[in-house]
Amino acid sequence: MHMAVIGGGYVGLVTATCFAEFGIEVRVVETHPERLATLQSGQIPIYEPGLQSMAAANVAAGRLSFGNSVNDAVAGAAAAFIAVGTPPDEDTGRADLTKVIEACLQIVHAATDYIVITTKSTVPVGTGKKLAKLAREARPDLDFDIASNPEFLREGSAICDFMRPDRVVIGLEASKPGGTSRAEEIMRRLYRPLYLIEAPILFTDLESAELIKYAANAFLAMKISFINEMADLCEKTGANVHAIARGVGLDGRIGTKFLHAGPGFGGSCFPKDTLALSHIARDAGVPSRLVDATIQINTERKNSMAERILEAIGHTRQRGCTIAILGLAFKPNTDDMRDAPSIPILHRLHEEGLTIKAFDPVSMSAAKPLLPADVIFGRDAIETATGADALVVLTEWNEFRALDPRTLRSIMHGNTIVDLRNIWDPQAMAKHGFRYQSVGRPTP
Ligand code: NAD
Repeated sequence: MHMAVIGGGYVGLVTATCFAEFGIEVRVVETHPERLATLQSGQIPIYEPGLQSMAAANVAAGRLSFGNSVNDAVAGAAAAFIAVGTPPDEDTGRADLTKVIEACLQIVHAATDYIVITTKSTVPVGTGKKLAKLAREARPDLDFDIASNPEFLREGSAICDFMRPDRVVIGLEASKPGGTSRAEEIMRRLYRPLYLIEAPILFTDLESAELIKYAANAFLAMKISFINEMADLCEKTGANVHAIARGVGLDGRIGTKFLHAGPGFGGSCFPKDTLALSHIARDAGVPSRLVDATIQINTERKNSMAERILEAIGHTRQRGCTIAILGLAFKPNTDDMRDAPSIPILHRLHEEGLTIKAFDPVSMSAAKPLLPADVIFGRDAIETATGADALVVLTEWNEFRALDPRTLRSIMHGNTIVDLRNIWDPQAMAKHGFRYQSVGRPTP
């Protein structure tokens, strides 16, 4: 049995590599010429811990291959997974399904036998049904099923999330004439290793699977916006947001995850998926006030964090004042810059005429085209902070946590630190002579 994966991005590469690791032959189709050339040269074009070595081992074992021919990948395949992008439409903000539809039709035309066409991409409710209709019109002779298998991986721990998932969700057409037992059987075979470790595998209808993905992301985003509001309240009342997050999160009904106050959520999923869900709900005539508020709080958050930095450096502010930025990616362990809070924040600081020197362990080349042209990129954290009037932490990479405050104090020109990820202890930083501000914690 072999399978095809259409799209060699974060989701496609992780999906393909992990299924190959399960022992299945996987053929990946990637249309971006540079990305494909990188893949065919044995390199993985994204930063994801563990992916490079796992992919290389599976390529060497003959189970994983990359090409640009849908025909080669799909002919004879038991399943084809669509893992192409679904970015927001620039005019409407709704998920743009152009690439998903294109990939589905390519699969349908290339299929030689029964196939399960599966969307891994995050798609609005109703997309599966729409794809089924388009596919039936394009190839009335083809025997196929449509499945929705949304992906919940987190960049930075994607392999572990795929191999040891909290759950796998598989949606199938509820009322397909003749049933969907063949599709169910193929999906069970593909995910067999996860059955063996007793990962919960939830079979449901297409619409529910599609909505589960958006609902899960919106809920997590809402938790982040909620704790960010609590952080603001802590700052006004003298409470500490770390204590609040722990005290609230230890309640098993709530959970400790996604309760970290910071500069707002970013990345390739939460901003676009909350926006898409807002549109889905509005279009269905039941606008989601919670999702809308989550989006609004997050947008305002990025602006208010930029103003917070400007206020913190107010006393030294002058044209030419140098500010060191540690971290650009939307979170550690990824080079993904999509919707990273660093983008609006750095543009706002730039507007004020500050000299910006920035460092991120892996995302600098992805960040460069998205940031003001005269941002200077540092070699490492120490070189970046040297001579700076102020320092701002935007991503909580472990290597920043380990920086010695005494060294930082000796190399910086000024003593202002705005730590938007709460990676250091306020008392310790004050003891070393810093004017240290963090998020939702009392300033010493
Ligand atoms: P991506 O942009 O990194 O990758 C998509 C890839 O598909 C690109 O390399 C592109 O060149 C390729 N492609 C586009 N059309 C193609 C076609 N017709 N044939 C072959 N290749 C084609 O996107 P991503 O981050 O992997 O996300 C993919 C989907 O998964 C999105 O819907 C996203 O919302 C969802 N998702 C992403 C994540 C994440 O953390 N990145 C997590 C869960 C779900």
